[in-house]
Order: sequence, then C-alpha cells, then structure tokens
Amino acid sequence: LLMAYEPAKRLAKLQVQMERAVVNARMIYEILDMQPHQREKPGAADLAVTDASIEFRGVTFAYGENEKVLKGIDFVAEGGKTTALVGPSGAGKSTVVTLIPRFYDPSSGEILIDGQNIADVTKASLRRHIAYVSQQPYLFEGTIRDNIRYGRPDATDAEIEDAARLAYAHDFITAQPLGYDTPVGENGVTLSGGQRQRLSIARALVRNAPILLLDEATSALDTESEAAVQKALDQAMHGRTVVVIAHRLSTVIKANKIIVMHEGRIAEEGTHESLAQRPDGLYARLNNLQPAPQNDLS
Ligand code: ATP
Repeated sequence: LLMAYEPAKRLAKLQVQMERAVVNARMIYEILDMQPHQREKPGAADLAVTDASIEFRGVTFAYGENEKVLKGIDFVAEGGKTTALVGPSGAGKSTVVTLIPRFYDPSSGEILIDGQNIADVTKASLRRHIAYVSQQPYLFEGTIRDNIRYGRPDATDAEIEDAARLAYAHDFITAQPLGYDTPVGENGVTLSGGQRQRLSIARALVRNAPILLLDEATSALDTESEAAVQKALDQAMHGRTVVVIAHRLSTVIKANKIIVMHEGRIAEEGTHESLAQRPDGLYARLNNLQPAPQNDLS
C-alpha cells in the first residue's frame, strides 16, 4: 500500500515545480489531479454523473487580454458516444477540450455535464470523471508501474496490470528487464512513440473515468505500433463519452458526431456521411486528415 503514496507525493512535488516554471500546458492535462487554478464556488456540490453528456452553450473564450479564440460554441457531446473535433490548425479545437476539465473558464456561456454547470461543482469531482490522453504522452521519472498509477494513485497492482493488458501494453512491459518495475523517464529505458502512447492509454484506463478527452497523435507511428495504439484506444473509448481532436480519417468516420471548427466557431456539424455530401462544405475541403494506415484493423 505504501507504494500508492509515492506517486501522490511526487505529484505534490511536481506541482510545485510546475507552478514555478512555464511548462507545456498540454503536458499538465494528463495529470488532472493537479491543483486547480480557478476558484471553486463556496459550498459547491459534487458532480453527479449519469450519462456523462457534455453540452457547450454559447461559450466564448479569450486567453488573457488577447482576441477571442472561441466566438460562440454550442454543441452536445452525447453520453457514451464519440464526438470528433476537426478543423484547420488554430481553429480552437484544443481550447474547447481544455475548458472541459476547467483548466480555463469560459469568458461567457456555460458548459454542462448531465445538466450541471461545471463552474458550480467541486473541481475534484469534475476531474475524477475525466481522463485525458495527449498527443505527446509525458512519462515521469519512475517505474512503468508508477507512470500508469498516475491515472489513479490508489490503484492496486492488479488494476494497473489489467489496464496495461487492455491498452496492449502488458507484453512489451513484461519484455523489459524489470517488467513493471523498469524505470522510465529521462534516466530510464527509452520507449518507442507507440509504447509511450499505450502507457498513456493504460493511465487513462486505470482512471476508469466516464469521460475521455483525446488528442490524437499527428505524427505517424510505424504500422505495427499504429495498429496496437488503435486497438488500445478502441478499448479506452468503449462505452465512454469521448471528445477527440481527430487527425485520422478512420477516427472521424467512426465518430457519432463530427464538429467542424473554423476560426473559433462551429462551421458544420454532422456525421461523415452527411458532411461528405456537401461538396462546398469545409469538411469536404479539409485536407489535413490523414488516411487510415493500411493495416488499420478498424
Ligand atoms: P491545432 O490543431 O494547431 O492544435 P487548434 O484548433 O487546437 O489548433 P487551439 O490550440 O485551440 O487551436 O488555438 C486556438 C487559438 O488560440 C490559436 O490562435 C492559438 O494561437 C491560440 N492559443 C492557444 N493556446 C494559447 C495560450 N496558451 N495562450 C495564448 N493563445 C493561445
């Protein structure tokens, strides 16, 4: 049991380091238990999740004094379904995702989860229901086991292994010299991009949260890794409310809903079939979606 405290302790230390340094914000998102910056309403209730549906209502947002990067966003990400955000670079996709765990608060409008304004609930309860998988998974100094446990500090070894199996990571982990006790991070073994992705997915799986925020990798992995990562993601997405910043055509095609963003607004919304039929639409003209890799098993 003592082992469970170690990541929690490191988390506290890491938090201090991060507060002192300007870091890549996307790295922090993976550790959703970090000290929140926004204030909580006094007497805020815990979020009560039923379907885990997410709704944006008239959301605008600006980073500090800068120009608005979200100019009125309205959509529903239905519970248990996958909503894909697509659009040109700078359209505001990452910003939309960032608002869900309240790394920032909207300038106006509101975000509801199962009808509750997320500004009115405790931040700990909000973030407990959310897991995040980033494009560039961050590995902390420590063992593979520790790195998965960051998803949920009180996870047992058995739960960590189960998550790793589901994330198609168990085999490469046990092939390492010290298995789950193999050190990673700057002073540890070097893992491939696909292996890092799968550890990050295991971290999300061990969290077992109903909402999964996913920033799909843009950089190509080798075909074998790609297929393993895809299978791991399918496991993680299953039965959850997923909001994915999608870069792969295969992900977009499978999504229950596609939100096409352009310059801080929603340009189009629909399924792949409905959007692809509008030849003059932005979706039909998007050329930054990558085709599925050849052996994509989907
Ligand atoms: P990409 O696909 O390139 O990640 P995106 O659609 O996710 O793009 P965002 O990252 O949400 O777009 O960015 C929207 C706008 O907000 C851009 O103009 C970007 O420069 C700006 N922006 C993003 N993060 C910050 C920040 N931390 N501070 C100031 N401006 C930011």
